[in-house]
Amino acid sequence: MSRDMMVDPLLSEKEPQYQTQVSGYIITVPNETTQIRKFLASNQRINQFLFQHSTFRVELAPFAKGGERLAFRAINGYGERIVLKRFFQQRPLTMLLETIERQLICIYLANIFNKLNVSPNKLHFLPNYLFIPNPTKELDGKVLTLEQTEQAVAATCRTPNFVEPYLNGYFIKYIDNNGWINESEFHSTLHAFAHWTWVHTKGTLLICDIQGVNANNKFYLTDPALHHIDQNKFIYSETNLGEVGISQFFRTHQCNAICQGLHLPKHKEQVLPDTTKGTTINPNVDARIKQFYQHSHQQNTPIPPSKPSNLLLLINKLLFAPTIGKCVALFPFTASAEREMSLRVDDVIEILYKSDGWWIGKKGGIPGIFPSNFVQELLEKFLFVAIEDFSGTKGMLSLTKGDRIYLLAKSGNLYKAVKGPHVGFIPKIICAKVQNVTM
Ligand SMILES: [Zn+2]
Repeated sequence: MSRDMMVDPLLSEKEPQYQTQVSGYIITVPNETTQIRKFLASNQRINQFLFQHSTFRVELAPFAKGGERLAFRAINGYGERIVLKRFFQQRPLTMLLETIERQLICIYLANIFNKLNVSPNKLHFLPNYLFIPNPTKELDGKVLTLEQTEQAVAATCRTPNFVEPYLNGYFIKYIDNNGWINESEFHSTLHAFAHWTWVHTKGTLLICDIQGVNANNKFYLTDPALHHIDQNKFIYSETNLGEVGISQFFRTHQCNAICQGLHLPKHKEQVLPDTTKGTTINPNVDARIKQFYQHSHQQNTPIPPSKPSNLLLLINKLLFAPTIGKCVALFPFTASAEREMSLRVDDVIEILYKSDGWWIGKKGGIPGIFPSNFVQELLEKFLFVAIEDFSGTKGMLSLTKGDRIYLLAKSGNLYKAVKGPHVGFIPKIICAKVQNVTM
């Protein structure tokens, strides 16, 4: 049960008695992954709702009471135990929709996080549905838009209830929404998950207020908070503290083995040292993490800009021209016209000429043209030097003291770096910034 509810202390001694019966529509979100991806990518709100007629048996007395709602134990048509949360006052559907969207974002992100399989522990956020009491069955099986759903709900003159699975077990709050950490119930996976949600959403949001029940390496979680940097998002959610909440989380967050395994970059407010507390990571995760991120890069591959017409003529003239810089491919690109250069992620290309949107370069001595939005230029400000020898294992670069390297990205205690034609990870501590150099 959520933090805002006082639970009946005699609950565990009472067997539920489902004295009443209530019929109406369960309102769920079909194609939830697709809909929530659209929401995250383009802020398109959920706009499809599936109505299914259902009958619950419900206890007459609430077992928990909060500031704005009562919670009742109930049982659905399949004999599964559920909780119905009923508001005291009328609430607009858009307000309830925020809770649904927040919960679906958590479910979506937790699924990805679980698939990364860095931790032996897995996270499961409980789904939240809506229920409107209504004896008719005319909408049964129908998918309605948000506007149609609002009309259908308004016609009942009632605020929908929330429905969620009944959570059985010892309820614990692990992290709140304001930087508090439950030290006696410290689980590194949950802290790393919160950190990862911020990284994975490119700093847009952070999920915290993590609470629920832990059973056999699985956390069943409910009522999370979502801090969103856009002040127009989640405006009804009191637990959404926006950027302030994100900073608060990082001020008390200590990166752990799971954060390190995921190569999570740090937030600017992070001051505390890493911790060795908590779970160790699963073996052989590095290749999998790399593969995952390459795959997710492919999903976001940019679109090549239109090509200037004079480039093909220039290529031959530039064959022996000096290079004006280097860049590294961030996305794969498949050549589809004459003199275009195919790129694989991490290919290093020497730049010969820059024009609007497309550049001419040389890879393995062969010149070609490529879209500049598929690459990242290696700039002087990212030039570092190795201060000691380092022998890199798989995925890591080997360095000799004095080697010059370009940094591409920070990942926990590692940098992703470029040395000559090679790209790989290096420990932060073995390199230093080069001052006043020319390329
Ligand atoms: Zn961390």
